Amino acid sequence: MRARPERIGSRAEMDMDLKPGGELDDFRQMVRAAVAQDLPPDMRARQRAFGGLQSENRDALKWAAILNERGWSVPHWPVEHGGQDWTPLQKFVFEDELASAWAPDVNWGATHMVGPVIYTFGTEEQKARFLPDIRAGRYYWAQGFSEPGNGSDLANLRTAAVLQGDRYIVNGQKIWTSGAHDADWGFFLVRTDPAVKAQRGISFLLIDLKSPGITIRQIPEINGEADLCEVFLDNVEVPAENLVGEPGMGWTYAKFLLDHERTTSSFIYWNKRELRRVRAIAEAETLDGLPLARLPQFQSRLARLEAEVAALEWSVLRVLAAEEFAYDLTAVASTLKVSGSRLQQAITELQVDLYGALAMRQFPIELAHQTPTPLWPENIAGRTATALGSRAATIFGGTLQIQRGIIAKLAFGL
Ligand SMILES: Cc1cc2nc3c(=O)[nH]c(=O)nc-3n(C[C@H](O)[C@H](O)[C@H](O)COP(=O)(O)OP(=O)(O)OC[C@H]3O[C@@H](n4cnc5c(N)ncnc54)[C@H](O)[C@@H]3O)c2cc1C
Repeated sequence: MRARPERIGSRAEMDMDLKPGGELDDFRQMVRAAVAQDLPPDMRARQRAFGGLQSENRDALKWAAILNERGWSVPHWPVEHGGQDWTPLQKFVFEDELASAWAPDVNWGATHMVGPVIYTFGTEEQKARFLPDIRAGRYYWAQGFSEPGNGSDLANLRTAAVLQGDRYIVNGQKIWTSGAHDADWGFFLVRTDPAVKAQRGISFLLIDLKSPGITIRQIPEINGEADLCEVFLDNVEVPAENLVGEPGMGWTYAKFLLDHERTTSSFIYWNKRELRRVRAIAEAETLDGLPLARLPQFQSRLARLEAEVAALEWSVLRVLAAEEFAYDLTAVASTLKVSGSRLQQAITELQVDLYGALAMRQFPIELAHQTPTPLWPENIAGRTATALGSRAATIFGGTLQIQRGIIAKLAFGL
């Protein structure tokens, strides 16, 4: 069994200054002013309506380019690769401010997944070729891991890459590849050695999605979106120099990538912001002249959610504090994912329940891309679509059941 982080929550760690005033407050005000100045109103309106659970792939790149002007598109990276020398708390405040201001998400696959894999395990050529483009939001990256029949059981993936001379020939199929239809590049797990133990035969390959032999098909979703894709690879030629690290080490890199940002699986910034929206709706909507926030059936749900989000936020802060002390926190990402994803669903369900029949009014997501952006009715637009979209939160990035299995094994040694 792994070492338990027994000292999490000790006084020394919790001394991180969260009190109002002081340097952290100055930092928050500085970020807030910069975002108010930089964030285009149409991006903000789209994010406000559709809440970041749906695809805003175009905004993701444009917003990364804007942040990059200040050197802020990848603040969590090491400084030598373009990150910021901020404390964990400053990074927390930065993300919190971006979400509160309704800034779009950046291309997560690029900035939080493949980027860290490239700067940690890639060659100097790969770093020079890809990292500046990721920082500047030049290309959209998709994650090609899951396959039909191999989602939770990823280690048995079958997409094969065979080395012929200086290139790999790739054949197979991926599925649920978010944003692949809008993407330029994909980072793929492929089987390069079928003869060894499942995990040992997997490699990490960067594939140009415009390569001949690739077919991408969008999958219609219940909320009117079609961001999930099937990706078919038919004799796709990939230069061998696009292999990251060692052949057969793809599983290790994938685990590194999934463990890399432990606290992001909590969706804490999103949950805080959407909970504020719940409160705003509950104060504004009335029944028989009374704000819904004062009706017992809503009051108790709201109070419970506020307590749970506060608890989640403190858990995230404890993890950030403990990371500085380099504790082994392998199971923590799973506990944060379980709480964060279930809260997403509970919060969006309450938003819909507060509006009742009004929430059934659907606002087609395509309209969000019209310029100028339509004037969305405050808070109602997109609530049903977002609630339906949040059903996926307990599936993507490892299902609820898989997370619980990890917690049982790593935290309790079962
Ligand atoms: C919105 C969304 C976006 C996604 N984006 C991407 C992406 O960009 N790239 C990508 O590669 N993948 C992506 N995925 C795929 C995602 O990673 C998989 O859906 C997920 O890992 C589950 O795999 P599966 O769908 O094959 O379900 P399965 O693995 O078939 O699971 C089916 C059910 O069985 C349960 N189950 C399976 N194994 C176990 C077990 N050992 N113990 C207990 N219960 C078990 C699961 O919990 C689930 O309830 C995305 C999925 C969604 C919903």
